[in-house]
Amino acid sequence: MTPKIARFLADQLPATPCLVVDVDRVAENFRALRAALPLASIYYAVKANPAPQVLERLVALGSRFDAAGIEEVEACFAAGAAPSAISFGNTIKKAGAIARAHAAGVDLYAFDCAEELAKLARHAPGSRVYCRIMVENAGADWPLSRKFGTDVATARALMLRAGELGLDPYGLSFHVGSQQTDPASYQLAIGRVAMLFTDLRDAGVDLRMVNLGGGFPVRYRDEVPGIATFGHAIMRAMTRAFGNDLPEMVIEPGRFIVGDAGVVSTEVVLVSRRTQHDPVRWVYLDIGRFGGLAETEGEAIRYRITTPHDGGETGPVTVAGPTCDGADVLYQRSNYRLPTALESGDRVELLAAGAYVSTYASQRFNGFAPLAEHYI
Ligand SMILES: *Cc1c(COP(=O)(O)O)cnc(C)c1O
Repeated sequence: MTPKIARFLADQLPATPCLVVDVDRVAENFRALRAALPLASIYYAVKANPAPQVLERLVALGSRFDAAGIEEVEACFAAGAAPSAISFGNTIKKAGAIARAHAAGVDLYAFDCAEELAKLARHAPGSRVYCRIMVENAGADWPLSRKFGTDVATARALMLRAGELGLDPYGLSFHVGSQQTDPASYQLAIGRVAMLFTDLRDAGVDLRMVNLGGGFPVRYRDEVPGIATFGHAIMRAMTRAFGNDLPEMVIEPGRFIVGDAGVVSTEVVLVSRRTQHDPVRWVYLDIGRFGGLAETEGEAIRYRITTPHDGGETGPVTVAGPTCDGADVLYQRSNYRLPTALESGDRVELLAAGAYVSTYASQRFNGFAPLAEHYI
């Protein structure tokens, strides 16, 4: 938790549950990533946290933006981003959304299949396009690749086709999976992309860009390698694969930029035991899976939890949300322990909750209001 957030919570005691984001920390994370990979253009993945305060600060820092939908494209414009600073990076786009983005001047689009490529040719003629390749997501706590990307042979055929359709075959992309803790995963993916670059050059198509996606991890309950480690690994692999002829490098960080800039402040609703002598207490918070903590699905993202009793004796707990839904259990198998003094009414904080929380909150499931947000 940043000192600014700690002060805000202590002074204001905002109603819970709420997300508090330190926008200065967002800026620090952007600068840290730029320092770790100075040759890469940073396209912030808007979906991680699309708050205007975040987008405006990033515009001021010279960030570009990776948008998943037309509403995100428009949020970037509203924050002051130029159309040339936007990549429409979702491989699954409505025709109407492509047309609107194209009419607004966006000219960089992702795809991963012939059908989407045909839509781009029709609704965003002449645009720069890049094809997403499927890569290993091992080492990622929140994998993505089962849903996106194609194989190298198909990508080769599609990039040739892109030119025939009047599009500009601009580059290749991949995503190693979100909360990726292994720098080697980028190196493997870069090797695969580089071979296809060479292959397509021989076929007469000169690609100019490699999009390395996001994935850069945030420290949750467990330590992760620092961003410099990722920067070095990526530059080593790029230089090995491309020599002095480096293509434009794009990265699309989401989690890394906003994750540790935010804290969720929540109230303990109930501490109970299912049966008289059960050693495990159930701790119910006033936020759960449906209040924004979607990434606790499968206990994939394990937030650090701080309480007013930290330092005292602890015992095993199951942590759950407040709704009448059996799926609304956050942590049951991840060996969470919390102070034995914890009781209902206590305020507890989930650290590094700035990414993928505010927009995952449901609309009034069980009557609960969407998550309140404070940007300071
Ligand atoms: C979600 C997403 C990102 C951001 O990933 P992080 O792991 O949050 O950095 C980047 N690119 C694409 C295409 C995405 O879908």
